[in-house]
Amino acid sequence: MSLMRNTLAAGALLGLALLLPSQAHAAAAADKCKFEISGNDLMQYDKQELDVPGGCAQVTITLHHAGKLPAQAMGHNWVLVNSADVVAVANAGLTAGLQNNYLPPGDKRVLASTKVVGGGQTASVTFATSILKKGAAYTFLCTFPGHNALMRGTFKFG
Ligand code: ZN
Repeated sequence: MSLMRNTLAAGALLGLALLLPSQAHAAAAADKCKFEISGNDLMQYDKQELDVPGGCAQVTITLHHAGKLPAQAMGHNWVLVNSADVVAVANAGLTAGLQNNYLPPGDKRVLASTKVVGGGQTASVTFATSILKKGAAYTFLCTFPGHNALMRGTFKFG
């Protein structure tokens, strides 16, 4: 009886696996080099740290705004900088305006960034890790005015 139950269970699992081949494949391939992070209407990211394995040649960060407020009121972006540059980049972003995603155009201190999104929107950025040094201190932040005090986290590579 217990053998039969096990067989049924195994069959059910197998059936599930067969039913979802594309999802299973996606999960297996689910690149440890791809990350998702979301922001909300309470000015928070859902992650405080992102760890990128040293083997990743490139990284993709997808930012989802899980809230409802528009970008003008509660916009979020994802910006990667050397930790030493957090305050300077956040301050520079203050005056850059939404049309520039609250980042000075061409700012070399910005290592990677998404555009600013509002509630329900998603944006992503893919960049080569050749711009990063293993073990260096990086920080990600939102440069929407006033957000970086709460919306920042640690980014590790290698
Ligand atoms: Zn924000």
